Amino acid sequence: MSDHTADGLRGLVAAFLRTHDPSGDRTGFLRARFDAGLAWVHHPPGRGGLGAPPHLQAVVDDAFAEAGAPDNQPRRNSIGLGMAAPTLLRHASEAQCRRWLRPLWTGEEVWCQLFSEPDAGSDLASLRTRAVPDGDGWVVDGQKVWTSLAHEARWAILLARTDPAAPKHHGLTYFVCDMAAPGVQVRPLRQATGEAEFNEVFLTGVRIPDTHRIGEVGHGWRIARTTLMNERVAIGGRPLPREGGMVGVLARLWRERPDLRTGGLHEEVLHAWVRAEAARLAALRLRQLVAAGQPGPEGSAVKLSFAELSQRISGLEVELRGAEGLRHDDWTMRRPVAPDLLGRTATYRYLRARGNSIEGGTSEILRTIIAERVLGLPAEPRVDR
Ligand SMILES: Cc1cc2nc3c(=O)[nH]c(=O)nc-3n(C[C@H](O)[C@H](O)[C@H](O)COP(=O)(O)OP(=O)(O)OC[C@H]3O[C@@H](n4cnc5c(N)ncnc54)[C@H](O)[C@@H]3O)c2cc1C
Repeated sequence: MSDHTADGLRGLVAAFLRTHDPSGDRTGFLRARFDAGLAWVHHPPGRGGLGAPPHLQAVVDDAFAEAGAPDNQPRRNSIGLGMAAPTLLRHASEAQCRRWLRPLWTGEEVWCQLFSEPDAGSDLASLRTRAVPDGDGWVVDGQKVWTSLAHEARWAILLARTDPAAPKHHGLTYFVCDMAAPGVQVRPLRQATGEAEFNEVFLTGVRIPDTHRIGEVGHGWRIARTTLMNERVAIGGRPLPREGGMVGVLARLWRERPDLRTGGLHEEVLHAWVRAEAARLAALRLRQLVAAGQPGPEGSAVKLSFAELSQRISGLEVELRGAEGLRHDDWTMRRPVAPDLLGRTATYRYLRARGNSIEGGTSEILRTIIAERVLGLPAEPRVDR
């Protein structure tokens, strides 16, 4: 029986480190950490956790970091860790969790999200990719778009239509798709930054075994909502130290380059700093609430304010730097292994931040969700994302 206190968990980490060398084989170390229940401490035993209170995760992570232990490189698998894992934990079978959670957490298997389609973004439930029953599985045909890191992914969470005759929210089913399966074609889509972080994905006669279906046939929308609510927290509620992220870049520039300062911008920089700190603390609080249960519509607020702030702060940086801030250093087409919101230059940050108010639900959609589901204002015509 584990001692679910901070000291108890520090003791478990110390005992683990006595028998596992953090400077040895990275994958072996991470697998053993998962098996010891020290990956996601709030998960149940057998699924990477100990059933411990979620706030103790930071205690465990800090203890491993202090020992110089390798981490699971979370930026490389942000969709897996932030969206697929909580969805699997809530809706997948025991066998499915056993198959997928460990390599997901260790980073051996990267995940992507096959949700959006050319005519189904905000109105996601109108998607047209079909999954048709065939023997002991399904055959999937359709096109997905804006699929971040599909070029790196081993698995995808996939939403497909299994009953075209049913009302649109009831005809969907949730699957896990093998990105190495015949019929999956990934083509890069180049962004304003010059990079191709995302892709279009063509699915042609892709076979998915029924054992890779998550939940009941026709219940895909309910399961997708778990993914979408976690997505907003994953994007907007990342744990950051004070002056972490975009505001840190701006604050350092302000301190180190007095030659760039102008009176008018002083107030703007201060204002952005205060808003960023308030957003960071709100995200911290939200993460604690989320760890104690599933995220609610409040996650939309942190995602919305993250997008507004990163666009405003990256704009301020470009303004501060003047002509120098307009120089984009390199427009080489690359397919990065992880999204990089901070990038290399002010222009990169400015251009990449444009996508923040689109990815994970647009700011317009999030405002509607906040108005209706948080503030209880009268409903507008239905939005689905
Ligand atoms: C960087 C990035 C990464 C992404 N990664 C992924 C991924 O990995 N997987 C994935 O599935 N998708 C991904 N997406 C797609 C993203 O989820 C969609 O772009 C988003 O949901 C918007 O859909 P859309 O692009 O079809 O725009 P549309 O839904 O066509 O919207 C166009 C405009 O109309 C507005 N609008 C639409 N409906 C309403 C309404 N009811 N009320 C008010 N305004 C409305 C929108 O706010 C927007 O301004 C990514 C997008 C970006 C930018």
